[in-house]
Amino acid sequence: MIHQLVYYSRNVVQGNDRAMLTNLRDIVSASQRNNSRDGITGFLIFDKTWFIQILAGEQAQVSATYTRIARDPRHATATIMDARNVQSRSFPNWTMGGAMRTPEVEEVYLQHGIGSAIEPTRLKSAHVINLALDLQAFDAAKRQAQRLAS
Ligand code: FAD
Repeated sequence: MIHQLVYYSRNVVQGNDRAMLTNLRDIVSASQRNNSRDGITGFLIFDKTWFIQILAGEQAQVSATYTRIARDPRHATATIMDARNVQSRSFPNWTMGGAMRTPEVEEVYLQHGIGSAIEPTRLKSAHVINLALDLQAFDAAKRQAQRLAS
């Protein structure tokens, strides 16, 4: 059985888009290093105001990872949206994928009925997972197109 936890938190690192992207890349890089060691997979959505993250793995590891994340000074008010056992991982091949909300992914947000600012308290975890899956698919398609063009 896989334990899956979904939470949101408020970003407290300010700066321009480049600084935000650097912040996200630093987080994803440390996450990938630790999560591959701990058997955690998932995805991190970042819209510059909010982080929404899905963590999946063995329950004790998910809890330990979330406890560590919640103490991180780069964000605040981490709030669990959902924590449950599930049959399988939604992101089996990602020790942590991450997507920042940029104009090019706006169509993905629109497809999920999110046209303006994210309001995490109004989102259900299933909605978050579907959005993350489509952001992941968008990123994979973009990388594939770049490979074919080079
Ligand atoms: P390092 O990465 O070497 O960091 C050492 C210490 O410095 C940590 O206490 C860290 O919090 C702090 N730190 C590092 N960079 C900065 C910075 N730029 N500003 C302020 N403090 C900093 N970690 C995971 O392992 N898995 C995850 O899935 C994961 N998701 C995260 C999602 C979010 C939204 C955030 C904000 C952080 C996430 N992290 C995740 C990072 C986590 O909070 C810890 O920073 C990390 O796990 C510590 O890794 P480390 O022991 O290798 O230390």
